[in-house]
Amino acid sequence: MTFSASPADGSRFASTWADLAGIGRDRLRGGYSRHLFDDGDLQLREWFRAEAGRRGLDVETDRNGNLWAWWGTPGPDTVAAGSHLDSVPGGGAFDGPLGVVSALLAVDELRARGVRPRRPFAVVSFAEEEGGRFGVPCLGSKLMTGAVDPDHVRRLRDTDEIGLADAARRAGIDPTRMGPDRERLAQLATFVELHVEQGRLLQAADPAAQVAVGSEIVAHGRWRLTVTGEGNHAGTTRPEDRHDPMIPAAAAVLAARRVLADHPGAVATIGRLHPVPGGTNVIASSVQCWLDARWGSAEQTATLVDEIVAAVRAEAELEGCTLVMTREAMSDRVDFDPGLSVNLSERLGAPIIPTGAGHDAGVLSAHLPAAMLFVRNPSGVSHAPGEHAETADCIAGVQRLTDVLADLLA
Ligand SMILES: [Zn+2]
Repeated sequence: MTFSASPADGSRFASTWADLAGIGRDRLRGGYSRHLFDDGDLQLREWFRAEAGRRGLDVETDRNGNLWAWWGTPGPDTVAAGSHLDSVPGGGAFDGPLGVVSALLAVDELRARGVRPRRPFAVVSFAEEEGGRFGVPCLGSKLMTGAVDPDHVRRLRDTDEIGLADAARRAGIDPTRMGPDRERLAQLATFVELHVEQGRLLQAADPAAQVAVGSEIVAHGRWRLTVTGEGNHAGTTRPEDRHDPMIPAAAAVLAARRVLADHPGAVATIGRLHPVPGGTNVIASSVQCWLDARWGSAEQTATLVDEIVAAVRAEAELEGCTLVMTREAMSDRVDFDPGLSVNLSERLGAPIIPTGAGHDAGVLSAHLPAAMLFVRNPSGVSHAPGEHAETADCIAGVQRLTDVLADLLA
């Protein structure tokens, strides 16, 4: 195993990283808001093409908007590495782009090490991994693998009521061709996704380790709870006359925290509330709450959600409101290929850790051996502007990814 944090590595990482820094900044929230087919996303696609072109890689946008940069001719037995370039609203710089940048730099490093791939290699950037614009996480990989209905996807709209199909056309992608890509899937032999760690499990597993290998992704899903009451005047409506949907919505927020005490390892969050009409002197007529819940298996997560919804329903009845729940997304627990993960862990001398975050590697792992490498993030902050990884750790990530790819491509 080699490790070199040479100035050349550092400056190459820094310059590639610097080119991304100005794209898709969110001046209101801080950090980045990079969403499918928005201006930032289109600039990121140009950046990807330029970086691939600089390395002599052929770039292709597949029918689902995922970007592929090929070293060698596309074909069977392909090894792919990458991640995504989009972000959550007001997200950090590392979640996603670190994996794409690392895969591109791994091409440089493989060449520097004199590796001549015996199989095709592709750097991939999957579309709308965060579901930040149209609500479906891992959209590009789910479309490719057939895990989501393309008709449903074509009907998705963003919060400005812009349809995904129209947004796709704007980006030069024909929405009628979106859907399962069996040919591409059949070409892929292995996928490795490097990602910034999004918690503090790596630190807990081994405070000295810069990189870890992923073992599993816990089950996770999103639900939309719509509470409807009666819009009214905040000053003149007596307490006994109110049907305020914000009360059951508040119960949802509190229940999402309360149930965790009984279920170690579970997490549930209401991170988004939308009162309608949303006036300070107005009792809302309805409130939409988005619940994110994650725990062990799909059944366990469903138990968690049932408990939260029961609490909201009880409060809605007391308040004279109605509740409608819609499941927006659900992914069952994913165990990464155990042979591959153990191999990588031994090869790299890296600890193995689970994650509570969804990833394209999790979607692909239902179809081919997939693995993840996590670069440490000691604060654990992610999906927020404060997300950070030290450059030395990022470079170690590139080196470890290169080690893995050198073995896979040999
Ligand atoms: Zn990510």
